[in-house]
Amino acid sequence: MIRSIPWLAVALVWSAQALGAASPEDYPMAPERVAPGVYAVLSPARDFPNPENLGWNANMAFVVTGDGVLVVDTGSSETMGVALRNAIRSVTDQPVRWIVNTHSHGDHWLGNHGFAGDGPEIMAGSASIARMKQQADGWIDSFNDMTGGATGQSRTLFPDRAVDERVERDLGGTRVVLLPSGDSHSPGDLVVWLPESRVLITGDVVYTDRAPSVWDGRVAQWIGFMDTLIGLGPRVVIPGHGRVEGPETLPRLKGYLTALWAAVEEGVLQGLPDFETVPIVRERMADIVVDYPGFEDKVNRSVAHMYTEVEDSVF
Ligand SMILES: [Zn+2]
Repeated sequence: MIRSIPWLAVALVWSAQALGAASPEDYPMAPERVAPGVYAVLSPARDFPNPENLGWNANMAFVVTGDGVLVVDTGSSETMGVALRNAIRSVTDQPVRWIVNTHSHGDHWLGNHGFAGDGPEIMAGSASIARMKQQADGWIDSFNDMTGGATGQSRTLFPDRAVDERVERDLGGTRVVLLPSGDSHSPGDLVVWLPESRVLITGDVVYTDRAPSVWDGRVAQWIGFMDTLIGLGPRVVIPGHGRVEGPETLPRLKGYLTALWAAVEEGVLQGLPDFETVPIVRERMADIVVDYPGFEDKVNRSVAHMYTEVEDSVF
């Protein structure tokens, strides 16, 4: 019996590191009211999914209308979707009638199945929907690898309504505008604009205090799209990652993307390969990245992706 004790100790250490699937109660989802009927559910994490954050690293939001709830993004797993559903119930008994998935990355939609009981209409760009269908299993596997199994085996619930141009709808008496970004951050991404409360829910077209991932999008388009968002005149911006901020966050991110583009262009014009362009980017952006933690984790991949886009635009 004594010999088995070290094994028991090992087992306890493993379980203390949160291996195995998380349950909805493990996610501290506290809705924060940013305008009448409009709530942000913000992840405290600023990193990729890992065993500490149990895979929850992206923000969600919901809007309580006069006749049902609109949810924007549902997290990285079915369990997280259930946790979000429970959090919404702490605010309203109304059913969730609509979901918008801002884009195809798994941290923004794998929670959809947590709302299956409400039978919502689920909207996304058609490029996003196609990728969700292709990549769902890959996202589920990689989140489990990254989190020590915390995200579990999600069942998938895909969007059933494609939105590929600007759409304005009346949802339960609330005006809701869905705006495609032109594939700024990823193919098919949508932002949600609430003109009455002047709240902008952006998905990953806006990051606030976290470095943006730029390797799946079109950065030149993204820089231009920031002007479209600035032109809306939002009062509150709920980003895909990071804290809720006011309109000043939009020109700040535009400045980040513009500086990144200019630094990569310097490397391209000097004929340097992408990996030798990285030190230039690091130096030119030193002051800017103070506001965007996680830059170092992303800089190599960002420059490698942007290099071709910049090259094509220069030559
Ligand atoms: Zn994301």
